[in-house]
Amino acid sequence: MPFYEFECPHGTVTEKLVKMGTTEIRCPKCRQRAKKIISLCTFHLKGGGWYADGYASSREKKIKNKSV
Ligand SMILES: [Zn+2]
Repeated sequence: MPFYEFECPHGTVTEKLVKMGTTEIRCPKCRQRAKKIISLCTFHLKGGGWYADGYASSREKKIKNKSV
């Protein structure tokens, strides 16, 4: 099971193991909905650069091949 962080409207962050696809939990402190904080920032930066490079270069080749 993935480990996620959830933040309620009051800014309380709760770490919890939840099922895949769970987008929110109940904040244990205020009992309000705590939404999932996706650590996409780090993931995106790491994966994004790699994908961007790979995609850009492969796409460039395709375009060049087509135009030739
Ligand atoms: Zn709360």
